[in-house]
Amino acid sequence: MYYLGVDLGGTTIKVGLVNEEYQIVQSISGPTGRERSFEEVLKDMAMLCKEVMSMEGITEKEIHSIGIGSPGIASPNEGVILSSSNLNFDHVNVRREIQKYIQTDVYVENDANCAALGEVICGAAKGEQNVVVVTLGTGVGGGIVANGKINRGSFFGAGEIGHQVIYYDQGLPCGCGRKGCWEQYASATALIRQAKNAVSEHPESKILALAQDGLVENINAKVVFDAAQAGDEVADNVLQGYFKYIACGVTNIINILEPSMIVLGGGMSAQKEYLTNPVTKYVQDEMYGGLSLKTKITAATLGNDAGIIGAAFLGTTL
Ligand SMILES: [Zn+2]
Repeated sequence: MYYLGVDLGGTTIKVGLVNEEYQIVQSISGPTGRERSFEEVLKDMAMLCKEVMSMEGITEKEIHSIGIGSPGIASPNEGVILSSSNLNFDHVNVRREIQKYIQTDVYVENDANCAALGEVICGAAKGEQNVVVVTLGTGVGGGIVANGKINRGSFFGAGEIGHQVIYYDQGLPCGCGRKGCWEQYASATALIRQAKNAVSEHPESKILALAQDGLVENINAKVVFDAAQAGDEVADNVLQGYFKYIACGVTNIINILEPSMIVLGGGMSAQKEYLTNPVTKYVQDEMYGGLSLKTKITAATLGNDAGIIGAAFLGTTL
């Protein structure tokens, strides 16, 4: 039996054919073309699914189900994307559209929840029952797994951990309409902004020297980590401040949910223990009543595959 996982992004549709050992055995992608109607976008998605099956010589009968991860809010059991500003989808019945072309079960789920599910099924959190996966990327996303299941809340919008406010009133404005949201301080975007501010005061920093062509606009998260590991004090200061921001939100999550594991994902997870060790230390410093930290803080291991693998197995985990 095979499982089709789809990552329906604002710019690209990625489809992966996944086997029972959780391996992506074949994949394909195409442009989303989100300015088009949802019927056209989803027809393309169905064609990509058919193509990836034929590349591997698989028939529809050998497919357990299709799972689709999408930005926005989805109702998994009904196969409906309720709202997605990234895609201009409003109450779109994805299942009905896909089943015009492929006769199989179809499920949809928020993309961050899919990534969390992937890490729990076969990644960093394999075997854990209570996990929060934090995606540190352009923003900060999250998926909450409680007793082995995604916690979607009452109206499918739970898990927006990036929009917990850590600076009430005086904080930076956020796209969600509030001020001081965690993602304004703990996202990769925020780290880059913090590094650029530091470089404007300390142009001698290795951060600038390591950025491509020595240009401020080419500073990225990796450059900041590389500079710190090369002994640059400015970069280290930026990172320690950044780790404390991450630790603040992580501690809030632990205080509320007390998961056995917190997985740090997104592009930042490539830094592994250079990220998780200092964050663990700062979380320990902030623990309630000085209690010792029991929650393990670890880096995601599936990278960009987490979303596709998690989506592929939606039909077995709902
Ligand atoms: Zn926000």
